Amino acid sequence: MNKILGIAQKYNIDVIEDAACALGTVFNNKNAGTFGKTGCFSFHPRKSVTTGEGGAIVTSDKNIYHRIQLIKNHGITFSEGKYDLVLPGLNYRMTNILAALGRVQLKKMHEKIAFRTKLAKKYMELLSDLPNIVLPDMQPGHSWQSYMILLESNINRDSVIKGLKKMGLSQI
Ligand SMILES: *Cc1c(COP(=O)(O)O)cnc(C)c1O
Repeated sequence: MNKILGIAQKYNIDVIEDAACALGTVFNNKNAGTFGKTGCFSFHPRKSVTTGEGGAIVTSDKNIYHRIQLIKNHGITFSEGKYDLVLPGLNYRMTNILAALGRVQLKKMHEKIAFRTKLAKKYMELLSDLPNIVLPDMQPGHSWQSYMILLESNINRDSVIKGLKKMGLSQI
């Protein structure tokens, strides 16, 4: 992020952060999604907070905010009793029911991250003696949406996946 922000500043480019899987992640005392003017989050079922489908955009820029409001609702404005189509847009509206699902989970987000951090520590403990795999850094602020390991080239990834599936670990 430091490098990206440096380049963006040098050339006066806006940063749109794909923080889809980083909800709750903290880096340099800042939340993922807030490094540039705009950050995007996903609430897909794979993520730690889910609404089934959908996501959220955060921005510190009022113009971007108003533009997103327009684009997500067919580019329609409504004022003085009249509709107008002011720019091309689509239906990106989230339903209230899905938003309600997300709000409940957002309240539990820190609890969820604490649990995931505990799991990550456990994985670290259990996997640290194994040869030929590189484990992720236990960086503070990590939200552990996924626990990724790197297998060195002498290890066959597909047979590791097969082995894990045999042990009942099929969500990979
Ligand atoms: C999940 C994910 C996406 C896709 O999110 P959608 O809700 O399917 O659009 C994009 N980028 C990253 C980094 C992700 O983790």
